[in-house]
Amino acid sequence: LDLRAEDIETLEELGAGNGGTVCKVVHQPTKTIMAKKTIYPQSLLDSPALINQIIVKTPVDQPSILTPQSSGEPGGSSRPSRSVSTNLVNKASPQKSLTPGSHTDVEPTKYTETPSSTFVRVHHQTMKQKVDPKLLVRRQIMREMQYMHDCDSRHIVSFYGAFMNDGDISMCMEYMDVGSLDRIYKKHGPVRQDVLRKIAFAVLDGLIYLYDCHRIIHRDVKPSNILVNSMGQIKICDFGVSGPLIDSIADTFVGTSYYMSPERILGSPYSVKSDVWSFGMTLLELAIGRFPLASEDGQSLAVFELLQRIVNEPMPTLSTDKHYTPELKEFISMCLLKDMELRPTPADLMQHHYLMVQEKVDLQQWAKDMM
Ligand code: ADP
Ligand code: MG
Repeated sequence: LDLRAEDIETLEELGAGNGGTVCKVVHQPTKTIMAKKTIYPQSLLDSPALINQIIVKTPVDQPSILTPQSSGEPGGSSRPSRSVSTNLVNKASPQKSLTPGSHTDVEPTKYTETPSSTFVRVHHQTMKQKVDPKLLVRRQIMREMQYMHDCDSRHIVSFYGAFMNDGDISMCMEYMDVGSLDRIYKKHGPVRQDVLRKIAFAVLDGLIYLYDCHRIIHRDVKPSNILVNSMGQIKICDFGVSGPLIDSIADTFVGTSYYMSPERILGSPYSVKSDVWSFGMTLLELAIGRFPLASEDGQSLAVFELLQRIVNEPMPTLSTDKHYTPELKEFISMCLLKDMELRPTPADLMQHHYLMVQEKVDLQQWAKDMM
């Protein structure tokens, strides 16, 4: 689907997060209802913090990555393999790898050094065309996002495509008409336990799919990124679409999250196990109907206080005096093990006895009740 800004008509705003807003839109040519999210607004892409972070390098054997493709936006059809593209952004000592190669049809490369010491390696050819490096960065992002087309699982929100409008990059995804789980529990209270088990399964299955099939770590598991539609389907969204450039943006900009694991707070790189932590925190929140880490009087904590609790203090567990099962309690506690080594992977969790219960749950009816 070739998405163009002028074909998209906004119907209503669905919500706003850190980066931008999500709107319900209609793609006029196909009359498809979609959710449109501005992921990389101009303000972010042009911020000095980002420019300082991004060092875009094109290896000599991959000349097409940063040169504009003649096939137009977005991205064209070439998809470099992940293992190759992972090497494209290298934050460490740029000079070392800036040895111009002897590629046959590309003239020696030029490096533009901006005052903010960004090295953008641009092909000579591109320089002659006076292409703005910022535009190249945007094109590269668009290209990296094309991977999302390959994600196809019943527990992942589908991706229709991305487009650039002025300086903003937006993406369109499947519209989920019941909305996100944070809205659901804030309106209807704690999530029913039989439904919670189905949610746990759906999210885990989605995470395993992303990791096993695409080596994607979600990086932002939380109730607002789990969506429901009126067919009773449960799907995850907003996963860390990753390509080298997007990864580096994520490293710079994915701010503090209340769902961050201790090791992330302490600066370790993401791993699937950090997702498991966030998943545990999410389940706990849905089970009790409030964010688990609040102060005694139920007030939300200051960010610093919150982070220090996650790192230093025992994590809350489900009280068994309520109707919660010991299996759920244990399941959540395992996700919230502070020591990453001890914490299970999503695949380990799939084998947990909490998920072994075979139970018929009318999710469609539940979803209708939640609308
Ligand atoms: P956050 O996830 O931090 O709340 P977002 O910008 O990702 O911020 O999303 C804002 C809100 O828009 C979400 O809380 C959710 O309720 C809604 N939303 C996001 N994507 C969709 C979608 N595909 N379908 C329906 N609602 C959505
Ligand atoms: Mg979101």
